[in-house]
Amino acid sequence: MASPQENTAPPPAMGSHLLERLNDAQREAVEAVDGPVLVLAGAGTGKTRVLTVRLANILATRRAAPGQILSVTFTNKAAREMSERVAGLIGRPTEGMWLGTFHAIGARILRRHAELVGLRSNFTIIDTDDQLRLMKQIIEANQIDEKRWPGRALTIIISRWKDKGWLPDQVPTSEVDDFAHGKSVDLYREYQQRLSELNAADFGDLLLLCLTLFLKHPDVLADYHRRFQYILVDEYQDTNVSQYLWLRLLAQGSNNICCVGDDDQSIYGWRGAEVGNILRFETDFPGAKVVRLERNYRSTAHILGAASGLIAHNESRLGKTLWTEAPDDELGEPVKIQGVWDEAEEARTVGESIEDLQRHDNSLDQMAILVRAGYQTRAFEERLITIGVPYRVIGGLRFYERQEIRDACAYFRLIRQGDDDLAFQRIVNKPKRGLGDKSLQTLYAIARGRGQSLLSASEEVITTDELPPARRTALREFVENIARWRAEASQLSPSELAEIVLDESGYTAMWMADKSVQAPGRLENLKELVRATAEFESLDDFMNHVSLVMDIETDSTDPMANIMTLHGAKGLEFDTVFLPGWEEGVFPNQMAIEEHGYAGLEEERRLAYVGLTRARKRAIVLFAANRTVHGQWQSNIPSRFVDELPQDHTERAEASGYGFVQDDGALWQIAMNKPDQGGRQSNYHRVIEARNQRYGDEEVFVPVGQGRAVPELGSRVFHQKFGYGQVKGIDGAKLDISFDKAGQKKVMADFVEPV
Ligand code: ATP
Ligand code: MG
Repeated sequence: MASPQENTAPPPAMGSHLLERLNDAQREAVEAVDGPVLVLAGAGTGKTRVLTVRLANILATRRAAPGQILSVTFTNKAAREMSERVAGLIGRPTEGMWLGTFHAIGARILRRHAELVGLRSNFTIIDTDDQLRLMKQIIEANQIDEKRWPGRALTIIISRWKDKGWLPDQVPTSEVDDFAHGKSVDLYREYQQRLSELNAADFGDLLLLCLTLFLKHPDVLADYHRRFQYILVDEYQDTNVSQYLWLRLLAQGSNNICCVGDDDQSIYGWRGAEVGNILRFETDFPGAKVVRLERNYRSTAHILGAASGLIAHNESRLGKTLWTEAPDDELGEPVKIQGVWDEAEEARTVGESIEDLQRHDNSLDQMAILVRAGYQTRAFEERLITIGVPYRVIGGLRFYERQEIRDACAYFRLIRQGDDDLAFQRIVNKPKRGLGDKSLQTLYAIARGRGQSLLSASEEVITTDELPPARRTALREFVENIARWRAEASQLSPSELAEIVLDESGYTAMWMADKSVQAPGRLENLKELVRATAEFESLDDFMNHVSLVMDIETDSTDPMANIMTLHGAKGLEFDTVFLPGWEEGVFPNQMAIEEHGYAGLEEERRLAYVGLTRARKRAIVLFAANRTVHGQWQSNIPSRFVDELPQDHTERAEASGYGFVQDDGALWQIAMNKPDQGGRQSNYHRVIEARNQRYGDEEVFVPVGQGRAVPELGSRVFHQKFGYGQVKGIDGAKLDISFDKAGQKKVMADFVEPV
């Protein structure tokens, strides 16, 4: 605890230079040092800056020592940045600060008083895997059918309760669903008991147990009241109930709490965040000062206008105006909206823009590609690798480093190369086949004794009684599967093979049965993997490609382009932001709408707003006319968010320019933006001949390079329904194709893909 001397009167000169860098409203928020303050303001208005300067100011004026300030940020990265910035502002390091995420600070508090909540100070923080394992054990111990009532589902239920701040005894009866015929609360109680016996806590506990600690031990709470003279919270709109209660308890002491947030950027509703927390602030903290910031310092007028126009479509919001002080002739670049043919062209377009920006002295560090879902990073990663642009994936793993992709590739490796023991070990029991560590040890000993690979040893072991019968049967099936896939590999395309392997091995099914939050993302990644293999002639080519991709260094400090999800981009800013995949179903995300209806759609729109407002100078929105979904070509329509961007602030990249496709006798497909009858812009794609064609009432000229060659005479093609075939004749937009299985057919060129 800091001594009273540390609270000596402020030397005014020290703080004042800090305030010079603020506008009046920001200064008001910084200078209102005592009492509750809420800064409720739009993106880029300097909320985080206010918080940082406030912190620096409190330290510089010696109102409190570093150890007497509690600052909560959304990520550890944000905490590090804030700490560096504060140190920069006050000109000395800031040791001993309580600056971090809710979880990190919760853990720190718990370790100091672990005994009071039934733990020891060296308790383990368990991850989701351990959590699940424990859940399953408890379900089993209660003789509940885990197949019917899966551990994953229980994990989600309990995490939600924890987010709401409910211990087993506090779960309202109305919230108990029929999991295991209403036994979920009892299971929750047992789970907590087990955690305590194991001297372990899960993520939810880091806050929940703090709440217990504070409520049961008023002396401890009083101690923290004395300690924390000032509390600062960033991204307040995304706090859940338990975080909110935690803050409220801690703030009761000094009542000096300053929260900053933006209701329009609340994007974690699906994880239990309650935007209501921010709207209730004035009631919870009577006498709170509410400061609104309206001047945006981050983005150009066009970007701001586009983002504001978009978010205005949300009904449940407080509404606010944002302005930027740019003169009319300096609106910056309009937000560019670009329709492309498919995901490959999308990646190519972004890659070209990045190279072009680079040539004009823009640093890669200042460019970001923000995707809606993790699987979308793959196409961009590969494109950037191809063109030699270094990149980093922020807040996640690179595509080929992800667990499910490594597992799937381990199957492919073993099919290619039976001696690959590492691959064997990775997947022999994934999904679970009863071939756990013990079986593997037996196999390993046998293989080593005979100088064989694990797979060769297995081939022999399935004919002996070295393994118990059930294990032997499982191993036989595994070995036979590998052998069959290997035999099939030569006849099938890599994507067909990949699908069969993932399917027949039970690997896809394993993730389908998995009810964790990560599972849908993993399944999407697996589909994306199948899609990736389709670009190669053989599995060998694909695997070579993967090893090359994996070989690229990514941990250097050189400038790199950034790829991340929209969720991960919160609070960050970049000169240039690429926003791909703005198509109905992709973004807004189909599941979000199906599961949460209108509220889900509004959260998606807030996410779009977050994306746009990350850009300082330029934002490029892209949508593809076609995407492969579940291995099938699907035409997509542009996201409603594209239409919601006000025209005054956007510029549509028109594919119909002036120029000609070089006439090489092939058909060309183009993706173009054209107004439909209602005057709305939408994406059209048509097959046209290699000369200018009549398109509706207009002449359409296709610029060189904008199109994409579709089948030429004699080329191999693929048709959704008829399969593979060869082009025998071209008649306008129709093709005569001789299909391998379906025979001779005349089909629209629109419906075939060159292979
Ligand atoms: P978000 O809602 O996206 O988190 P924010 O409101 O936290 O945004 P900041 O990140 O604090 O906004 O500020 C946005 C940008 O504007 C930063 O680059 C910041 O340095 C700059 N900025 C903020 N206030 C001022 C100011 N008074 N003068 C100059 N630049 C400023
Ligand atoms: Mg911020």
